[in-house]
Amino acid sequence: MVDKKIQKQFKELLSKEGLKMTSARLSVLDEMLSNDEHRECEEIFNALLANGVKISRATTYRTLDFLVKYEYIRKMDIGDGKIRYEKKLGHPRHDHMICIESGNIIEFHNEAIETLQDKIAKNHGYKIVRHVHQLFVKPINKK
Ligand SMILES: [Zn+2]
Repeated sequence: MVDKKIQKQFKELLSKEGLKMTSARLSVLDEMLSNDEHRECEEIFNALLANGVKISRATTYRTLDFLVKYEYIRKMDIGDGKIRYEKKLGHPRHDHMICIESGNIIEFHNEAIETLQDKIAKNHGYKIVRHVHQLFVKPINKK
């Protein structure tokens, strides 16, 4: 279950938007913060139903948007026409490698790349505010 402090903050943010904290909305938050996968709304919705949560698809969608807005989760687009969501709160910054054969999404972090891209932006007179780094890969054939 989501810890009390996060729950309290969630409730305050919801009321800021004129929304009430319902058990359905709290279940979406809980589902997202307790899972490290990259899932589509439909998969998240089905996971909630499988856990016995009474929620509509529309509420799931709207709550996910809310969670993106307040940076509990991140929306990702790998260009395959699907929108996926992943946990952001408490999940370290990372990039993604996407296997074009299996569809697996592998997370990685490389300090050298981070430093290098900061340097490149700086050399052009900019600083990075957001970046999307996706590598499309396939397995190396083993002989
Ligand atoms: Zn990720």
